[in-house]
Amino acid sequence: MIPRLKPYFDVREIKAVFATEAGSVLKFEQAFASLFNAKYALAFSYGRSALWAFFKSQGIEGAEIILPAYTCVVVAHAVALSGNTPKFVDIQLHDYNMDLDLVEEAINVRTRVIIATHLFGYPLNVDRLNEIVQTAEAHFGHKIWIIQDCAHSFGAKWNDQLVCKEGDLALYGLNISKTMNSIFGGMITTDDEEIYQELRKYRGLRFRPPGNVKSVLRASYLAAVAVSFNPHFYPIVDWLQHHTPLLKRLTHGYHLDVQIHFPPDYLDLMTALEARVGSVQLMKYPEIIRIRESIAERYEELLEGSALSFKPPIIKGATYSHYPVRVQNRAAVKAWMREMGVEVGEVIQYSIPHMMAYQRYVEDPSQYPNSLLCSRDVINLPIYPDLPEKDQSRIIELFPLSLRAS
Ligand SMILES: *Cc1c(COP(=O)(O)O)cnc(C)c1O
Repeated sequence: MIPRLKPYFDVREIKAVFATEAGSVLKFEQAFASLFNAKYALAFSYGRSALWAFFKSQGIEGAEIILPAYTCVVVAHAVALSGNTPKFVDIQLHDYNMDLDLVEEAINVRTRVIIATHLFGYPLNVDRLNEIVQTAEAHFGHKIWIIQDCAHSFGAKWNDQLVCKEGDLALYGLNISKTMNSIFGGMITTDDEEIYQELRKYRGLRFRPPGNVKSVLRASYLAAVAVSFNPHFYPIVDWLQHHTPLLKRLTHGYHLDVQIHFPPDYLDLMTALEARVGSVQLMKYPEIIRIRESIAERYEELLEGSALSFKPPIIKGATYSHYPVRVQNRAAVKAWMREMGVEVGEVIQYSIPHMMAYQRYVEDPSQYPNSLLCSRDVINLPIYPDLPEKDQSRIIELFPLSLRAS
């Protein structure tokens, strides 16, 4: 079975687990800031905790925060749980990012923040967003923060500019399903000294060091993941997860939360062990992206001439965290591909304005047709550095057939 995703681990990550150097979190933050050309970086237990802490540290409360309707639901959770109102904007079908005309319409006197997500690694037009925000700031007479959500797009570029450098700060997710990971974890980068100082102060006040038990649990989790994705073990793991609930968390969707809530350890600091694993992954980051780009280009070529109604765009500066394809009968396509030994994934199988928990924030869910369509139709083909070329070819040969067979 070809897995739908696979973390890029080798013996270096395992060694990092057992190392005992001091100051691992600070070192990870500094290396992270340096790789993405930011002045400052601050690590957290989750990306959502980082986002929540930013709102708290700036006293942003009771405000409207603009975010895409189609994104990871934990982003909306952070907005709601910080005492703010999420204002959803529909996405475009060609690159899965917010429609900036709709962002322009959505801004009003209560808007304090815009979360610009670069979904699936595709860069959003940050130049246009900056213009819209500058005009709105002049009109409403107050600051509107721009947060780049780079959880899928750490080093993505728009017109050769790193998107994480545009706007006020950038947010990253570092869980095991991301392009690089620190087992769990999240990060914020900024060039703004005041944002950094306030956030660091708030983190110092509200977040606490995790206990030793947590490090042991994280180490076991990493070991389980490393073993599970080994080609010799994966068939067993795959069987177990389809026939028992044991391993659901390892390879299946992470964010199926239907309630607006955070995990109980969201106020923990990042563990030193996670930071060490993150530091090893960081060294591999340029390589990871280079390989993803080349697989995306190869898929594009191999799909040429096939009758797919939608092929993922090749966009300069994208990081290809996913290879999203839209199909009309997703369940059947997935089942057929599985029969053939290929696991295709679903990343975001919901539209947030259509979720029960968010009804109170939404006037009219029919304003989000593209988000709804993507929640039903998007699947993603495996694209990760360890994917052998022969598997890449097999996936692309089978995929168009699955559309006919299903
Ligand atoms: C993963 C992710 C985050 C952060 O998620 P955490 O699990 O809280 O670290 C934020 N935004 C997007 C789009 C993501 O995919």
